[in-house]
Amino acid sequence: MTDQTTRTGYLWNTLYGWVDTGSGGLAPSSVAAGLQPISHHVAHPDTKRRLHELVVASGLIEHLHELSASPASRADVLRVHDAAHVDRIIAEGAQPKGGDAGDGVSPFGQGGDAIAFLAAGGAIEATRAVVSGEVDRAYALINPPGHHAERALGRGFCIFNNTAVAAAYALEELGLERVAIVDWDVHHGNGAQDIFWESPQVLNISLHQNRCFPSDSGFRDENGGGEGAGRSVNIPLPPGGGNAVYEYALEQVVIPALEAFEPQLILVPCGFDAAIMDPLARMMVRADGFRRLTRLITDAAERICDGRIVFLQEGGYSPYYVPCCGLGVIEELAGVTTGIADAYEPIVGAMGGDELLAHEREAVDAAGALLPGITAAR
Ligand SMILES: [Zn+2]
Repeated sequence: MTDQTTRTGYLWNTLYGWVDTGSGGLAPSSVAAGLQPISHHVAHPDTKRRLHELVVASGLIEHLHELSASPASRADVLRVHDAAHVDRIIAEGAQPKGGDAGDGVSPFGQGGDAIAFLAAGGAIEATRAVVSGEVDRAYALINPPGHHAERALGRGFCIFNNTAVAAAYALEELGLERVAIVDWDVHHGNGAQDIFWESPQVLNISLHQNRCFPSDSGFRDENGGGEGAGRSVNIPLPPGGGNAVYEYALEQVVIPALEAFEPQLILVPCGFDAAIMDPLARMMVRADGFRRLTRLITDAAERICDGRIVFLQEGGYSPYYVPCCGLGVIEELAGVTTGIADAYEPIVGAMGGDELLAHEREAVDAAGALLPGITAAR
């Protein structure tokens, strides 16, 4: 272990590991469609529980300030969601077989609504702890994820938009005026874009594989509207990119955008599905890449907003590799090294992604053209 230089909050709840995603693989099992039931849905909670258990088994937990989640209130969730959506989720959660977040491929079990409120509440608690100064930064390992949930519709395994709930809480209850979201889940952060489209108080940046999910959003010309014009920044990346393109995107677009917007808090919807072993996307970031991204964004937070940054768990579907990527990120946040290395490095280390290719540079530079719009919108 190295010396700990920061006080890092960490939040997990046993019920996050009880999210019931059903017996389908990605779509619901179906005789007619030839989809046999399977015990591990692609978004099975074991993947996230394995990360939590590695945080414990590695001893990293001893260097973290454990935070405890309470369910978000109905009023907390209604800041960013329509009452009809919230009521439907609660009603379906009372059904013997549960319900669906909204798109028909995002099942949840009986009582799943309560776990969704608990995930949103975990996001609030981590945010409260950082803004109050109780901790310097925090990692909320929450589940179900949230970043695809729009104001009126859950989708993509997401019921409530945990990050948006936390951002709205920070603005309305903690007195902040500007919050930035840096979403590096491999899929588009469509939920916050929908919810904060016209908000001048939220800068929503999403790095994602182009047209991965949702396939019809996340394009560079979606920039926000009304008073929020210029404050949605999409950086769609060509498939196949790895450590190099993500690092370049942070340096060239994300961090300059943050410097222009001057947020008082940075929220990072943190998925590990841009990882090289993920089954739901085709990017090639390795564990050392996620570490590097974490260092870059936390250094930026130190310069821009007194270090106030909260990581909120989103996707990540490799039960093998997510724990490895997540441990690195949380170690980096805590300034602690457990000595547990990326065991897959000998396998994935030579596969590529360390060299910035011309078409990747082009994609990032094109998004860089959006930067003046952020400054001008202030
Ligand atoms: Zn994702």
